[in-house]
Amino acid sequence: MGVVVIGSGIAAVAAVQAMRANRYEGEVTLVTNDEPPFYYRPMLPSLIDGSKTMEEILLTVDPVADFGAELVKGTVQGVNCAAKTVILSSGDVLGYEKLLVASGSSPSFPQIKGLDAEGVFTLRTMKDALGLCSYLQRTDVSKAVVIGAGLVGVRTAEALRRRGLAVTLVERLPTILYPVVDQVGAAIVASRLQKAGLEVIVGARAEQVLCSDGKVAGLRLASGEIPAEVVVVATGVRPNVGFLEGSGVDCRRGILVNPYLQTSQPDIYAAGDVVEYLGLLEDEPIVSPLWTTAVATGKVAGTNIAGGKMRCEEFLPVMSAAEIGGLPVIAAGLVAMEGNGYEVFERREGENYRKLVFKGDTLAGVLFVGEVEGAGVYVSLLKAQKRVGGLKRQIAARRLTYAQLVGSSGDD
Ligand SMILES: Cc1cc2nc3c(=O)[nH]c(=O)nc-3n(C[C@H](O)[C@H](O)[C@H](O)COP(=O)(O)OP(=O)(O)OC[C@H]3O[C@@H](n4cnc5c(N)ncnc54)[C@H](O)[C@@H]3O)c2cc1C
Repeated sequence: MGVVVIGSGIAAVAAVQAMRANRYEGEVTLVTNDEPPFYYRPMLPSLIDGSKTMEEILLTVDPVADFGAELVKGTVQGVNCAAKTVILSSGDVLGYEKLLVASGSSPSFPQIKGLDAEGVFTLRTMKDALGLCSYLQRTDVSKAVVIGAGLVGVRTAEALRRRGLAVTLVERLPTILYPVVDQVGAAIVASRLQKAGLEVIVGARAEQVLCSDGKVAGLRLASGEIPAEVVVVATGVRPNVGFLEGSGVDCRRGILVNPYLQTSQPDIYAAGDVVEYLGLLEDEPIVSPLWTTAVATGKVAGTNIAGGKMRCEEFLPVMSAAEIGGLPVIAAGLVAMEGNGYEVFERREGENYRKLVFKGDTLAGVLFVGEVEGAGVYVSLLKAQKRVGGLKRQIAARRLTYAQLVGSSGDD
């Protein structure tokens, strides 16, 4: 019996690590349909441009070797909360005392024709990345289109470009990387991508993947056609909760949890991309499909499964530290908000851009592009939701030390 964990991503790994750190000595079984099970998912684009090998992106922690967990390969298709069992598509049934659902997310697809053509890919798993690499090696591909200019789409497009392909990045919204950067930040990054040889088309809806003999021949937009032999779809993700239907575990978009990451079924916990939880800056619960969230929620869930009482911090809508187009970008909170009760302080010098968004007396958004030194202090201030009163201008002008920033309420 013991603990069963659905998934083998970073939320699952962080949870097993926390269980053992909190002296849980019982059996832990991870069930996963991922192969190989433990790797650094955000590094998948580096397999495409060849800057890393498969071995180089494996996680340094292995729950089986390091923490004595058992690994079961298979796909979970149902959970029976009354019987406390997990049902696999093979027909096998696993009993649990406590269950952790860390099943992550899967790519979501636009409703367009042609997605079944040979040469259409997504990038979520190691298998996806290796499949795309092998296709590029086997076939005579010189042009690619990436649909969706979020973080995954942009990083995939950059990797394909570095591999020598002509790449067009197509985004439905008027700017790339929304809501991680605002319009100004997006223009700076887009210009960098264009200098690297990428074509960026915004405000364009993909209408159909064009095919010839069952293979990708291009992408049709309302404004015209882009020839390509490969299409990568990067139009967002949705939490993997389908197998919980009818189980009694309450879900909306993701699995609803309390601050201890317990679901509506007390012996079932959830962590990672699959969780829907209170937003720090929103009235409604949100999902937070981020590596940092998966690590943090895995730790909380694992600690509590082991008998602890750890609370989960509320989710931020954006929390990103990445290098995009060769520029460091740090973003947190409601970065793209303007007007309607938001006060914005921004400064731009060439490619260096800094923006702070205040809602009333508290910091609600932080965006640093290019020069990112000191950004962490502002992110901490935002996370603490500390009231800064009349200090906003000094904070925006960087006239306060760290101690003053975190120590003063500004109300005096
Ligand atoms: C290309 C790429 C780049 C990214 N870049 C960034 C970044 O720069 N910054 C950032 O914060 N985040 C980034 N992310 C997102 C980040 O990787 C995820 O938020 C994180 O990996 C989520 O971890 P998780 O453990 O919750 O879920 P996952 O890593 O998705 O793991 C879920 C696991 O559950 C398994 N599973 C699912 N359903 C079942 C089932 N029914 N039966 C058995 N097993 C199942 C899956 O196979 C998988 O192993 C990126 C993601 C990708 C794909």
